[in-house]
Amino acid sequence: MNRVSVFLMVLVLCSSSFFSRGQNSKYKINTIVIDAGHGGKDPGAIGKHCYEKNIALSIALKTGKYIKENFPNIKVVYTRDTDVFIPLKERPEIANRCKADLFISIHANSLKNNTRTYGTETFILGLHKSEDNLAVAMKENSVMLYEDDYSNKYEGFNPKDPASYIIFNLMHSLHIDNSTSMAQHAEHQFKSRVGRRSRGVKAAELWVLRKASMPSVLIEVGFISNPKEEKFLMSDKGQDYMASGIFRAFRSYKEEIERHSSRTLEVKSQELPDANSNGVSFCIQIKSSSEKIPLNSKVFEGLGTVKENFINGTYKYSVAHSSNLRAVINKKREIKKQISDCFIVAYYKGKPISIKEARNIQKS
Ligand SMILES: [Zn+2]
Repeated sequence: MNRVSVFLMVLVLCSSSFFSRGQNSKYKINTIVIDAGHGGKDPGAIGKHCYEKNIALSIALKTGKYIKENFPNIKVVYTRDTDVFIPLKERPEIANRCKADLFISIHANSLKNNTRTYGTETFILGLHKSEDNLAVAMKENSVMLYEDDYSNKYEGFNPKDPASYIIFNLMHSLHIDNSTSMAQHAEHQFKSRVGRRSRGVKAAELWVLRKASMPSVLIEVGFISNPKEEKFLMSDKGQDYMASGIFRAFRSYKEEIERHSSRTLEVKSQELPDANSNGVSFCIQIKSSSEKIPLNSKVFEGLGTVKENFINGTYKYSVAHSSNLRAVINKKREIKKQISDCFIVAYYKGKPISIKEARNIQKS
């Protein structure tokens, strides 16, 4: 073997080991944002002996402490760690800016003229199925009234007018599966480990979740309008129990999604078509996102092998990879039924180029 072929062989070995490492890269939770509801001039719900804002902050800080102690590599970001007012829209923006993998908003519930109702409930973003859930959304969204010029800042939305809630009809959440999973883990922990009464996982039109571009939940840790539950939530022990419940839920959620996404990646990468000889390939781009989307997400269901490309700070998701443009055009008709704004893109040696350029290279 001459020196050139040894060099080439080493190059091939190095690049193939690099490639397989890339294929096995696992989705990992790196950053979590914990949002203590209300704060400063906004006390949130007012109990007989406490404010919602203080209970939310204590439980948020304790939850973050548990996560930091047990997962030192995970970055925990608080939207607030003192008693300050944070505008509602700023909260999910903090999570978006630090590219969080999960957003947990912590609140306490309260009912007027009702001291009997008690228990935990965890909300995900969605359309309310009962008037009770709409009432929670209205109450939590109404904190925007503390801000000057709220109507402009919140797209003309009036938190107290049910008609305003029509804007939520148009949304679709990419993260509904993962949000639901986190919410289920939370309610399970509250019930089985903390001994609370779980009122279940619910959906509502919560502004704070609407603007978060990652899986997100809003936890109502209990009713401070119920004297017994208020006492529990005000106690150091009660807050500690709730925080450890949220931490355990987070741990289960983390294990679950990291296990799933790595398995999916491995299976999918085996199915990837061979690279073509002249370096040109076509595919259908179905999604582009500043946030990483797990390949096992429901948005990709039924679309075949999905490939992720990270280009200039954006994750691009594509299907139907082939060097045969005609085959991709045919496939696009089918995909379009599910994703109307999909389009064909061309790549040359891994770099995006125009379709025209790609065809010219193929012709030459
Ligand atoms: Zn609240």
